[in-house]
Amino acid sequence: MDISENIKKYKGELPDEVKLVAISKTKPNEDLMEAYRAGQRIFGENKIQEMTDKWEALPGDIEWHMVGHVQRNKVKYMAPFVSLIHAVDSLKLLKEINKRAKQNERTINCLLQIKIAEEDSKFGISAEEAKEILKSEAYGKMENVRVIGLMGMATFTDDQEQVSSEFKYLKSVFDDFKKQFPDLTELSMGMSGDYQIAVKHGSTMVRIGSSIFGARNYN
Ligand SMILES: *Cc1c(COP(=O)(O)O)cnc(C)c1O
Repeated sequence: MDISENIKKYKGELPDEVKLVAISKTKPNEDLMEAYRAGQRIFGENKIQEMTDKWEALPGDIEWHMVGHVQRNKVKYMAPFVSLIHAVDSLKLLKEINKRAKQNERTINCLLQIKIAEEDSKFGISAEEAKEILKSEAYGKMENVRVIGLMGMATFTDDQEQVSSEFKYLKSVFDDFKKQFPDLTELSMGMSGDYQIAVKHGSTMVRIGSSIFGARNYN
């Protein structure tokens, strides 16, 4: 895998308004540094411990995005530095993020994860539940957390029509929400296998891992 070439390829190919989040989970620091030297500054991880270790070891101008499911008791470890949490799925979790952000005198940006895939295994909430959270008095009072958009993962399938209709649905939810909640500017959708469809349907942030860094080995 030529990581540096891959970064250049995606930066060249993606429209200017679409951010590239390089998903570096399981990859060693040397690989992230190769991407860094090619100009990449946004990295995404799905485990808090691993992200914290990398944050401590790597350059300070990297933006760290948490893209995985977040357990409330671990929020405190990333609160000092995380720049965007992609997969928030409850008011309880937002409350914890707000509390820990406040302790660090920061505001932490978040996305609400909307369930758009067919599989049961995918996390996320419905558009209705997301709207309830944004309208809630509790969220209105939170000063150190800001929901800046939505995130979704399409069904893992070769059926492009299905992936397309899932992304289209999420974009329609996003457009609908934006009328009511003007803070929402980001739509995180698209991974290695489906980012082109996601971009076509209005993604502002793609999360690409294996086609930049190579297949992951979990052993
Ligand atoms: C791992 C991961 C990705 C990247 O997946 P690839 O198929 O390797 O590009 C994107 N989003 C989330 C939430 C992930 O956990």
